[in-house]
Amino acid sequence: MATDTLVPAPENPFAIARRQFDIAADLLDLSPNLRCILRSPQRELTVNFPVKLDDGNTRMFTGYRVQHNLSRGPVKGGIRYHPSVTLDEIRALAMLMTWKCAVTNLPYGGAKGGVIVDPRQLSAEEIERLTRRYATEISILIGPEKDIPAPDVNTNPQIMAWIMDTISMHQGYTVPAIVTGKPLNIGGSEGRNEATARGIVYVLGEATRHLGIDLSRARVAIQGCGNVGANTARMLHDLGATVVAISDSQGGVYNPRGLRPIDLLQHKRHTGTVRGYPRGESITNEELIELDCDILVPAALSQVITAANATRVRARIVAEAANGPTTPEADEILYDQGTFVLPDILANAGGVTVSYFEWVQGLQEFFWTEREVNAQLERVISHAFQSVLRVAQEREVPMRTAAYVLAVKRVADAVTTRGIYP
Ligand code: NAD
Repeated sequence: MATDTLVPAPENPFAIARRQFDIAADLLDLSPNLRCILRSPQRELTVNFPVKLDDGNTRMFTGYRVQHNLSRGPVKGGIRYHPSVTLDEIRALAMLMTWKCAVTNLPYGGAKGGVIVDPRQLSAEEIERLTRRYATEISILIGPEKDIPAPDVNTNPQIMAWIMDTISMHQGYTVPAIVTGKPLNIGGSEGRNEATARGIVYVLGEATRHLGIDLSRARVAIQGCGNVGANTARMLHDLGATVVAISDSQGGVYNPRGLRPIDLLQHKRHTGTVRGYPRGESITNEELIELDCDILVPAALSQVITAANATRVRARIVAEAANGPTTPEADEILYDQGTFVLPDILANAGGVTVSYFEWVQGLQEFFWTEREVNAQLERVISHAFQSVLRVAQEREVPMRTAAYVLAVKRVADAVTTRGIYP
């Protein structure tokens, strides 16, 4: 039998997002009317547009921008460039952003955008032309007071700068608050680049205090060594924690006595991967998930903890840096075996929170120090954790369900208070 027949196909991400919403809606006893409103994105835009390639040919690309819910304010969410982007994935991620903004009580709804493209096959100039054209196509939806994009998979501060410049050219004046995640020299925020990792560290501080675990002695395994994984490793190491394993798309390294993140990241810079790092043994990404450790941080892909491996997760805490790393079936298994899951909409909310700070600074043209940014971030994340924990304890439900209950209630209340127009 071919082994790939044993691997279940990934479930439609929008179906998963709706299932997770339904659990919260049931607990809240949400009316059928409210469910209908919240289960569907408010606005969806598909754009097919041409881009001139360096060789003189023109190629058509397809992109999306989905706004899930606008009841609590303008919508916010990243833009990803990836060959596997689908409308359902973007819908799911937009919905997730609505809950993420609500759980942290930011005055935003959720959105997401994406272009079906493998950016590795394009030159920098082609990516710039693609970005400027896509920004123009979605300019009928985005704006500082209505929809504020940010970086996501394969997009970065330079791409945000091109979007900001494109919209500013259309307006005839600079519009810094049109996107977040911009470079510092054109209105980016101090601390934005590390914000998601810093949010993970703050929420882990809260969770370990609650569980009576000493974070400075915790053993941590991290899947993914990009912006979030690498910064989380560095910050936790600085706090005294032992980073026992880290991986990237090519595999991982493990050392039960601890890896030295600075040294390891230098190895990655030189070789392009953490694999082959001499002060540790090679492990696979699958083995990393099952390592004996206190804290597991999936910081790469979705659906890596599934019904097939959840029983073998030995970490006491799973901090979901990635979006959707745990399937609903795995979630139940983890809860039953007492694993404390910090759900994505809480754990990785540091990024959108500092994006919010960047937007506020851009609107006010008044910029904060990194210390001020980090202090406000800690306040927001700690408050969100305590609010979710309270719901989890009162209702005796997992942290994910509690986070959804809190978020869905906030959005449902906003919809109810505003009423249905006309
Ligand atoms: P990134 O592109 O900087 O890094 C991704 C890392 O994952 C890389 O090290 C890559 O090698 C690794 N990876 C890719 N395929 C893999 C595989 N098959 N197995 C193991 N590792 C693999 O991305 P990032 O910004 O660090 O984001 C990581 C995750 O966190 C994503 O799921 C993203 O959606 C989520 N997230 C990021 C932010 C943010 O601010 N950057 C905010 C919220 C959520």
